[in-house]
Amino acid sequence: MQDFVIVGGGVVGTFIAFELSKYNKTITLIEKEKDLATVQTRHNSALVHSPVMVPPNKGKLKAKLALEGNRAYQTLVETLNIPHLKNGAYVLAVNDDEMERLHTLQEAAIERNLNAERIGPDALRQKEKNISPDVRGGLFLKDAMTADTYALCQTLEQITLSNGVTFKKATRIRDIRVTEEGFTLSSDTDETFRAKHVINAAGVQAETIARMVEKTPRYTMKPHRGEYMVLPESQRHFVNATLFPVPQHDTKGILVIPQPDGTIRLGPTSTYQTSLDDASVTSEGLDAIRSAVDTLVSNVPYETVETTYAGIRSTIDQDDFYIGRSHEHPGFIHVAGIDSPGVTSAPAIARYVREEILKLK
Ligand SMILES: Cc1cc2nc3c(=O)[nH]c(=O)nc-3n(C[C@H](O)[C@H](O)[C@H](O)COP(=O)(O)OP(=O)(O)OC[C@H]3O[C@@H](n4cnc5c(N)ncnc54)[C@H](O)[C@@H]3O)c2cc1C
Repeated sequence: MQDFVIVGGGVVGTFIAFELSKYNKTITLIEKEKDLATVQTRHNSALVHSPVMVPPNKGKLKAKLALEGNRAYQTLVETLNIPHLKNGAYVLAVNDDEMERLHTLQEAAIERNLNAERIGPDALRQKEKNISPDVRGGLFLKDAMTADTYALCQTLEQITLSNGVTFKKATRIRDIRVTEEGFTLSSDTDETFRAKHVINAAGVQAETIARMVEKTPRYTMKPHRGEYMVLPESQRHFVNATLFPVPQHDTKGILVIPQPDGTIRLGPTSTYQTSLDDASVTSEGLDAIRSAVDTLVSNVPYETVETTYAGIRSTIDQDDFYIGRSHEHPGFIHVAGIDSPGVTSAPAIARYVREEILKLK
């Protein structure tokens, strides 16, 4: 009987395993893929968001954990030697309405005591030579960066392994039975795992896992696909910082995102779909990316695009993350609805699960 079984080895499950491994508990993390961090955690923008882009009106817990997570990354990328790019981000306005919204964004940042510096079009063009002539002004968010999330999970796994945690990969949980002592999980490898607590960190599959235990989960998965194209390392100097449009109501928009390896990601789109695993790239998606990117920058070397991909956001039918004990079986812990900014928040989510949910101090 394990103290904890964690279902899901993306950045969230891996950080939770890392966090709990310091508390002398028996822990197994179960991942259906051959490797950690190959699903949502690897098919995203890899941005450690500035907390300015995660306001509390989009979810109080999200805003709190994104802020704490952003602060944690500033040092952990260095102490764990994770490839990263501390390059900041510009939010760019292209018309009067957006200039006004930029102002509102800055006011909100000042109120929260966060870094957000106004920059005019001439100064911007000195920093970013390919900014579109339509850009009227920007906001610089110093504490945004990108990090290699795959390398991060590999490093966390190595440390966590040496702390005694077991990682079972290529093992898909098919069923969970509630028992007197806790839970018995069975897998497609015909193994069973017994645990006092189950932590559901299954990303876009979180509702599927929850339904193995609960009759009526209190959230519904609403997957949203995000498509990208990627410029090669040879275009490393096309832009320096991450470029955002002024955010719309429900998404952060389509961005230009330099990565630690010198490649530049253009995207993501945001399209609701019913499928939990259809990550195809469409011509409509690529057209939408081109048209949005062209409003931020000129001379985009689309002819050099080296690859395209899509990720599926584990969005649920509510704005905030859903983290807490099951109302039916309290030993089962939901860590669900972890869409963006889940990478940013992951270290803080792990601490929150340990301190606030499990009360392990
Ligand atoms: C397009 C897009 C852009 C994004 N951009 C950003 C960004 O720039 N910054 C940011 O902070 N966040 C971003 N996010 C969000 C971020 O990627 C996610 O919040 C984060 O990766 C979620 O991690 P996770 O561990 O919960 O999920 P995942 O990485 O999906 O991990 C869940 C794991 O559970 C496993 N699993 C599922 N079912 C089972 C089962 N039955 N048995 C065993 N294992 C199972 C899966 O194989 C998977 O590995 C983005 C997401 C997308 C899709």
